[in-house]
Amino acid sequence: MTDPREQVARYLRGREVLAEPEYFLTGERNRLLETMRTGQGGGSASSAGTGGAGQLARSGSRDDILAIEDMETLNNVAGACTRCSLHETRTKVVFADGTAAARVLCVGEAPGANEDRTGVPFVGRAGQLLDRLLRSVGFPRSEVFICNVLKCRPPGNRNPLPEEIERCSPFMLRQVELVSPAVIIALGTFAAQTLIGTKDSLRHLRGRTHLYEGFPLVVTYHPAALLRNPGWTRPSWLDLQLARRIADGDHAPRAVRSRDEAGARGAGETSEPTAQALDQLSFGGRDV
Ligand code: SF4
Repeated sequence: MTDPREQVARYLRGREVLAEPEYFLTGERNRLLETMRTGQGGGSASSAGTGGAGQLARSGSRDDILAIEDMETLNNVAGACTRCSLHETRTKVVFADGTAAARVLCVGEAPGANEDRTGVPFVGRAGQLLDRLLRSVGFPRSEVFICNVLKCRPPGNRNPLPEEIERCSPFMLRQVELVSPAVIIALGTFAAQTLIGTKDSLRHLRGRTHLYEGFPLVVTYHPAALLRNPGWTRPSWLDLQLARRIADGDHAPRAVRSRDEAGARGAGETSEPTAQALDQLSFGGRDV
């Protein structure tokens, strides 16, 4: 697990990104401070070394998963995971795509049929559109780490169940910790609500900077939804511009608190996409 000092420091940096003048350390953060005070914890051994990846994949606890020290071991444990019933119906575990040195980490909901077949997240037309959007704000795919909340496909693309999220989320959390991105982009309602811990609609969550475990997080539409609704392309582009500014260290989140305010910043602040450029980002409104 990440050193408690680093976790608390990350939390405080996140509050700074949010331009929050006061710090409230409750729950998990209080426990971290207590750990720091007593000198216990922070030195967890690699569970893969003590218990073996196979044992972790079958019955590892949340703390066991969070104690895994490198991405390769985490990938191996997820690849053999039977910690929830989705292992019975999956074709392939869809761990992630991208480098652990990425500055941007995108999180979607769960693998679809193509991902389940290939083992790679965000393939197909939705993935291509995501690539184009990210490139349009200066994030080539090579600088982006992409994963899902769930690593295995729910049958028939049904919504993930709470117990599946509970069992699988330590993998995503550890991925975030190991990548330590400058900014997280939550793609779609489910990923946003899960990471932020809210039932608020995407409309209320977009255009603001949130925190996930101390990392700045912005919310945008899922690229598959953009394929069905090309009119959402420009708002998505503005969301990614917000992510760009955060990654660049522009700590001015209050200036882009709402979607309307974000839209009003265009002239002189950012280079607005032309209608032709936005057309090229979309796929003409064809269904996924
Ligand atoms: S969804 Fe997650 S917890 Fe469930 S079997 Fe797949 S990797 Fe394991």
